[in-house]
Amino acid sequence: MRQRLALLGATGSIGRSCLEVLRHHPERFELVAVGALGSRLEELAAIVAEFRPRLVAVVDEAAARALGRALPAGAELVSGPDALRLAAIHPGVDRVVAAVVGAAGLPPVHAALAAGKDVALANKESLVVAGRLLTELAASTGAAIVPIDSEHVALHQALRAGRPEEVRRLVLTASGGPFLHRDPATFAAIRKDEALRHPTWSMGAKITIDSATLVNKGLELIEARWLFGIAGERVDVLVHPQSLVHSFVEWVDGSWIAQLSVNDMIFPIQYALAWPERWENEFPRLALAEFGALEFLPLDEAKFPSVALARAALASGESAPAVFNGANEVAVRAFLDERLPFPAIVDTIRAVLERHDPHPVGSLEEALGWDAWARRAAEQHLAARSLSR
Ligand code: NAD
Ligand code: MG
Repeated sequence: MRQRLALLGATGSIGRSCLEVLRHHPERFELVAVGALGSRLEELAAIVAEFRPRLVAVVDEAAARALGRALPAGAELVSGPDALRLAAIHPGVDRVVAAVVGAAGLPPVHAALAAGKDVALANKESLVVAGRLLTELAASTGAAIVPIDSEHVALHQALRAGRPEEVRRLVLTASGGPFLHRDPATFAAIRKDEALRHPTWSMGAKITIDSATLVNKGLELIEARWLFGIAGERVDVLVHPQSLVHSFVEWVDGSWIAQLSVNDMIFPIQYALAWPERWENEFPRLALAEFGALEFLPLDEAKFPSVALARAALASGESAPAVFNGANEVAVRAFLDERLPFPAIVDTIRAVLERHDPHPVGSLEEALGWDAWARRAAEQHLAARSLSR
């Protein structure tokens, strides 16, 4: 039987790679629902024309009206803030691909898991904001959360080599981003176009900035904690500029198991969609001999304090990772709008976390409440910062 999918964030970088995987395996999938914000309307219309989903969900109402006129007969259109949630719980959908960027992905992911639908998760922010809530919900409904993030897909595979109690630690690899070798004394002069030029991956703007600050690796540390049930102190980061080894598991006997592939998101996406199977494909093969050397370096925590900040937030209480994430989203937006210098992104997260008193997160409303609190606090911090200049 064909898998019946909802793809949320269809017009993004992960969305496009996911559609590429579907095109490689037309006999395996039916794309029942697609969702997007609505900012790339022509692209969305082309996706709808090609895949003929039964439901199209567009958050932006004006974009939805414009798209509505071009919709093929029989397709249903929903719009507004609840649109992606409706796509996630569509009765004809078995599995939801969560490829929205940011905490905006949390309500649809929560709804999918509550409805017992498996989630292939690229939207790491939802696990960062509400990790305990989502993993407990999935356990109670029997829904699976399978990662799409390449590091976590690597860990998911490497963890098949042994039992949980035999794991010593997880080692996330990090490319180091575009500023790995840049003098930190010049970080204040970093321009947006420099930060948007990632050395090894082509991705959406927000995660590309997160990769330059290494906040992305902090988010991934928290994501790993919830996906694999392992304390943050046992998740480490190793810089690997070639991005071919996607992560490692170190076992109690001193063995390491790694996973490698060409650095293209079609590999982890196919893994997530095929799991628990593994499918043949005609994707490009890894030609390791062409690379010669693979490098591994320690993370310079003084230059990139964001991983330590994320680990401390995770240890300090359940709401603190939500605050870490919300403050980061506001600061990254401000950097992309050229309202904030590069080093002030991580300074903003730190300042907002310092004002935060961590609490348990018992419901979706509480998780969204902490996200909103962090955004307000970050905006206040940015306003005070620009006044003092
Ligand atoms: P992107 O910016 O390219 O695409 C984002 C998608 O989400 C678009 O379809 C957009 O319409 C939709 N969207 C944006 N804001 C929305 C909102 N407020 N409400 C509803 N929909 C909204 O982002 P991306 O690079 O594809 O990343 C998506 C997610 O996958 C992120 O969580 C990112 O961290 C994660 N991820 C991405 C990559 C990658 O290679 N791009 C790798 C690993 C993980
Ligand atoms: Mg990743």
